[in-house]
Amino acid sequence: MSGYFHRLKPKDFKLKSSYEEIKNSNIVDWPISYEDLEPYYTKVESIVGVSGYAKKHPFLEPRSTPDFPYSATDEHVVSSWLDKACERLSFNALPTPRAILSRDEKDRRGCEYAGYCGSYGCASGAKSSAREALINRAIKTGNCTVLADSFVKRLNSNAEEVTDIEYIDKENKSHFVQAKIYVLAAQAIESSRLLLNSKNEFFKNGLANNSNQVGKNLLFSAGGVGEGAFYYEDFSPEEAQELTVIGPFVNRSLQDWYELDEGKKKGATIDFLFEHNNAVARATQAMSRGDLVWGDTLRKKVLHDFKKRRIFTFEIFADWTPHNNCFVSLDDEVKDKWGMPVAKVRIGAHPYDIEVGNEIAKHAEKVLEEMGAREVSSSISPYPPQNLQAGGCSFGDNAKESVLDKNCKTHELNNLYVTDGSFMPTGGSVPFTWTIYANSFRVADAIIKDLQG
Ligand SMILES: Cc1cc2nc3c(=O)[nH]c(=O)nc-3n(C[C@H](O)[C@H](O)[C@H](O)COP(=O)(O)OP(=O)(O)OC[C@H]3O[C@@H](n4cnc5c(N)ncnc54)[C@H](O)[C@@H]3O)c2cc1C
Ligand code: SF4
Repeated sequence: MSGYFHRLKPKDFKLKSSYEEIKNSNIVDWPISYEDLEPYYTKVESIVGVSGYAKKHPFLEPRSTPDFPYSATDEHVVSSWLDKACERLSFNALPTPRAILSRDEKDRRGCEYAGYCGSYGCASGAKSSAREALINRAIKTGNCTVLADSFVKRLNSNAEEVTDIEYIDKENKSHFVQAKIYVLAAQAIESSRLLLNSKNEFFKNGLANNSNQVGKNLLFSAGGVGEGAFYYEDFSPEEAQELTVIGPFVNRSLQDWYELDEGKKKGATIDFLFEHNNAVARATQAMSRGDLVWGDTLRKKVLHDFKKRRIFTFEIFADWTPHNNCFVSLDDEVKDKWGMPVAKVRIGAHPYDIEVGNEIAKHAEKVLEEMGAREVSSSISPYPPQNLQAGGCSFGDNAKESVLDKNCKTHELNNLYVTDGSFMPTGGSVPFTWTIYANSFRVADAIIKDLQG
């Protein structure tokens, strides 16, 4: 992941009771509040590692600590251009918290600003992936065993609890594991698929699915993306030189429109960044802009992007309205290589989300224009990015309308927890991962209590 980290806001936990009704939606309030999760957001900042600084603004979430434990990572000169442009526009440019260490910490090195962040592994350990921040350390305690190259095929159960899980190793051999407590965290789509594929005589529609809620209300991140080009010739030679620097981050967000229509509607977060520095990614992007060309024309087109300009982009993160037309089910015909039905994912975007995305994109475009970018454009589409998935096993107090209870234990099996993004009934107008981490720590406390009887 890229590590753009944002907390949810208190009202994100009670969308239904806070905002206007959206027709044909399944929006519900969460069974927990921001106050329940706040200590865990703070825990993630120090244990997992989040850097930044808490700048006061109208939508800043309440914090139990004054600031981040890790100071912000180094910033590109363009961040100060963005700050000035926002000042002129009376927008509130905010530092983006990053799940990246700005200094060495125990067994992890601070960021080395290679500039290849996102979509790749991080060689220094600065990026706060679960592996760097948690799993490596857990293994060192001697209390954690990782069975790599293992595919969990199904969970078996009796009427009350999971009895064992079956996994396949890389030699294609089947094994069974028994435990007191099972925690499923295979990412939203796969967790739903696994439960649906684990149907048995007690759970004919899939494990923990007598409510028929498994796979329902799948969430992505609504919004979209946009970009503009900084042509070196439009700037002084010194500025043009500064623009070419690779490594330090832009780290700027806007949350001025987190709410719209005087607080009646939910809005979005905008994050700003440079186009990915990787040469292959840049060339691919260059090729995909404008008409399809090949041969020498293509070569010139790619060269133009590398030599004449630098592309600056934005990403909009808006709530994905949960509704009946977005869900995971099993395919009737196609199976994976272990003979298990693959997931069939129905992606239906709610028209409301497209409207919000278009409204927010106008503000983001204005910032790029004010900074001196040319060819500014945005693309708000019903097709979501695949990297942000949540929902499918929502938590809630009503066992007929949700899969998990408020501690993310399934209502129907008393030793099965789900701790990936599946629990979220609504996703907030931010990327999800800080919330997934925070909630996992909260559920871990509940599991400890459970184990202590
Ligand atoms: C390129 C990219 C950039 C991103 N950038 C950001 C960002 O800037 N900010 C942000 O908040 N989020 C970002 N994300 C999203 C973030 O990575 C996810 O939200 C997060 O990882 C989801 O956590 P999870 O626990 O739900 O699932 P995962 O982290 O995907 O964990 C699921 C694990 O289960 C394993 N698994 C799945 N099925 C099985 C099975 N059957 N048997 C055994 N193991 C299984 C998988 O291998 C995986 O290790 C990004 C993602 C990508 C891909
Ligand atoms: S820039 Fe490099 S060192 Fe820093 S977090 Fe990204 S990948 Fe890791």
